Amino acid sequence: MAANDMKLVVVGAAGRMGQTLIRVIHETDGVTLHAAVEREGSAFIGKDAGELAGVGTLGIPLTTDPLRAFLDAEGVLDFTAPAGSVTFAGLAAQARIVHVIGTTGCSAEDEEKFKAAARHARVVKSGNMSLGVNLLGVLVGQAAKALPAAGWDIEIVEMHHKHKVDAPSGTALLLGEAAAKGRGIDLASQSVRVRDGHTGPRPAGTIGFATLRGGSVVGDHSVLLAAEGELVTLSHSARDRSIFARGAVAAALWARDKKPGFYSMLDVLGLS
Ligand code: NAD
Repeated sequence: MAANDMKLVVVGAAGRMGQTLIRVIHETDGVTLHAAVEREGSAFIGKDAGELAGVGTLGIPLTTDPLRAFLDAEGVLDFTAPAGSVTFAGLAAQARIVHVIGTTGCSAEDEEKFKAAARHARVVKSGNMSLGVNLLGVLVGQAAKALPAAGWDIEIVEMHHKHKVDAPSGTALLLGEAAAKGRGIDLASQSVRVRDGHTGPRPAGTIGFATLRGGSVVGDHSVLLAAEGELVTLSHSARDRSIFARGAVAAALWARDKKPGFYSMLDVLGLS
């Protein structure tokens, strides 16, 4: 550990992303694991974070006490669940540190709480922390702007592993927002999230979502722009969770010297 390393806490440390974050922090210069937090009742409390993540003993046992874990920390990497992320946002704001939020499935009220916390904390939140998906979002926005809504229908298809609990994915919604912004429409009122039974013809101008779940798929997304006689497909396939973890660590380092505020990966990557 170098003297100027950024001290990071991983919350949800025993999860798929939590373990990947511990590995990526271990491999990355300029950052160090300060503490590792899990929920009450987790079977992994007291276990060494490094051993759990397969990088050898780090001398950092998993704890249930975020307040203590955030003491002297500079940033929190949070891929947990909406209720946990709301709690961590309040604590990160009190500690005035960086809070990188990758958790998806958050409600509009949760988002308000993150924005309130961002008055004191430097919050970076994104439904997808990878460079590839954020670039894809920019391209989708350009395509949606260039192709007239009257003739071009937009559909977003995603597939994830069978353990995923929210749908559509945070990334599908991020891509939907990019398309809606490109078209100058409101996604919430113009999206079709489910189709079943006699739905009638497709309402013009809407953005449709389709969700597939199965196996161990890390995350596949396609945005289809369909017109009479032609189809444009823009897609991304995540092969390894480390792309999200590397993005989250890059976000923490980027936010280290920023003012309190609510930022996205587009800000971090210079794509905004
Ligand atoms: P997971 O279920 O494997 O891990 C989540 C972990 O968080 C679990 O170990 C759970 O015990 C822990 N946890 C939940 N609530 C907690 C709390 N209050 N305090 C402490 N720990 C808590 O799930 P995962 O696949 O790692 O995904 C986690 C989240 O990250 C999901 O919302 C997922 O959609 C999202 N995700 C986002 C990105 C991105 O780039 N933004 C990428 C992958 C996954």
